[in-house]
Amino acid sequence: MEATATILGSGGFIPTGRRETSSLLILPEDGDAAIVVDAGTGIRRLITDRALLAGRTRLEVLLTHFHIDHVCGLAYLTELGDLDVRVHGPGAALYDVPTADVLARLFTHPVMPVSLPELGIPVGELRPGEIDIAGVAVRARRQDRHTDPTLGLRFGDALVWCTDTMEDPGTVDFARGVRVLGHDSWGPPAAPGHAEPAAAAQVAVDAGAEHLVLIHVPPTADEADLQARAAAVHPHVTVATDLLQLLDV
Ligand SMILES: [Zn+2]
Repeated sequence: MEATATILGSGGFIPTGRRETSSLLILPEDGDAAIVVDAGTGIRRLITDRALLAGRTRLEVLLTHFHIDHVCGLAYLTELGDLDVRVHGPGAALYDVPTADVLARLFTHPVMPVSLPELGIPVGELRPGEIDIAGVAVRARRQDRHTDPTLGLRFGDALVWCTDTMEDPGTVDFARGVRVLGHDSWGPPAAPGHAEPAAAAQVAVDAGAEHLVLIHVPPTADEADLQARAAAVHPHVTVATDLLQLLDV
């Protein structure tokens, strides 16, 4: 994949002064589209620092699941009305409920007075398997080791993004030979449905991933401790920070 990947939000659950919650911006080398994985509070950076979009006029938002720290930023799309935005989510595939129906529960009075359809934002499905998003081949895999099922995403041999999952033998096959594995990390002790840093690092070792980036960082994390625990298992570990250029690690 010829692209840049910028972490807009590297934190899990609660935003802090240091980290917004989950969001990743991918700019394919060619074309007019940007891809965003998850709409945590980090997606606000596209509004507060519009230059990050590098003039792209289309935004394809991929949702790994619907937990609040991954979808709250969909409300901020009201401020990107000049872009052609589409949202793709795993409602039908993971929960047997169309993504539009899941999001309609949020985007309605009295929580949010403007719905995505009213904003002119189409909502479609993201299913396990291989799909083309803005000219980029994206592979999605169902992850069953969180408190609700989630999707892991693979972008060619450049990047695998596995947020909100415990360590999972299926991830090893999914991430086989990838250059950068972004893997959920929490604790110890890990919160339910998350991976301890050493366990995430073992997945990276088993998959032969060149570099491990610990993502979905806990709001009160001891970063040096996270790093040390993972680095005891895998030789190339980075604790994600906001605005990290993920493919340059
Ligand atoms: Zn989360």
